[in-house]
Amino acid sequence: TSYTPAADRYATMPYRRCGASGLKLPALSLGLWHNFGDTTPIARQREMVTTAFDLGITHFDLANNYGPPYGSAELNFGRLLREDLKPYRDELVISSKAGWDMWPGPYGQGGGSRKHVLASLDQSLKRLGLDYVDIFYSHRYDRDTPLEETARALAQAVRQGKALHIGISSYSHGKTAEMARLLKAEGVPLLIHQPSYNLLNRHIEGGLLDTLAEVGAGCITFTALAQGLLSDKYLAGIPADARVNRPGGGSLLPAHLSEANLGKVRALDGIARRRGQSLAQMALAWVLRDARVTTTLIGASSAAQIRENVGALSHLAFSAEELAEIDLHAQE
Ligand code: NDP
Repeated sequence: TSYTPAADRYATMPYRRCGASGLKLPALSLGLWHNFGDTTPIARQREMVTTAFDLGITHFDLANNYGPPYGSAELNFGRLLREDLKPYRDELVISSKAGWDMWPGPYGQGGGSRKHVLASLDQSLKRLGLDYVDIFYSHRYDRDTPLEETARALAQAVRQGKALHIGISSYSHGKTAEMARLLKAEGVPLLIHQPSYNLLNRHIEGGLLDTLAEVGAGCITFTALAQGLLSDKYLAGIPADARVNRPGGGSLLPAHLSEANLGKVRALDGIARRRGQSLAQMALAWVLRDARVTTTLIGASSAAQIRENVGALSHLAFSAEELAEIDLHAQE
């Protein structure tokens, strides 16, 4: 196509160093779990991806089974790479993952076996049309596979040149420390951990962030917007086009929209308005307030949401009073 990236795409986005590595990631990264499968028109996907890149979002996060159907987000993003972004490959950090259900039979059900991990990576590269991904993740801890086996498979992917860096997602802090040690023994540092984190879900403050700092790994948080709950979108009822109404629309359930949760969201929205930003913007600024969080993922269903979310970057600082008031309402 005739896509030409914005000339000023590097003008405002901060790039933060990922742990002790030399890799810098944009403060906001785009996740392709939702809205990049075959049920979303490719023109809309192209608009979201190019809008993100025009705003300095250089990091795009995928997994083998993002869709629907499984694999289609990688195929669709591969097409956008081919048609629009190919000249800019070295400006992009592209990730994929293996570990959840993907293809039939015992080797496709996910986990951390050498068989699953390496076959899945080869499939992802083929769908994406790439020789390598920048970050390859073990998507979850697998109690049925020795961690050594997973670590060796991940390290081999790096040695084969199929991945530049290794990440893990949703591992406990204990298993994270163990994996970091095993990878280090293989000569491959653990680059990054991808956990859930937001105003209403603070589990990583209970040890994981400390562990990551100790082992020199960065952190990329997901569901910073609690899948849309931490925005103004549900305050006046459930909009027809919201994720919560889409079949297979993820794990945001009507139960999450309880009066108790909406009460918190309303109070947080008030604080955000006084800061001169939207709740979505404040929720993103809040996860980025900790320097150990390298970047946060955002999901989006439109280019307008991406633009709004990037607007968070113009007001990242919090006063102690604001943080205390936020805690009072978010954790009551
Ligand atoms: P988010 O919390 O980022 O929610 C994104 C959703 O919030 C959007 O789809 C949209 O919902 C809504 N939204 C976004 N911006 C706005 C806005 N400005 N105003 C109103 N609503 C807004 O979570 P996701 O579940 O999308 O996850 C983000 C990424 O994190 C994924 O794509 C994936 O890359 C990663 N992830 C990783 C996991 C793992 O196991 N490693 C698990 C989950 C996610 P709507 O579509 O309704 O408009």
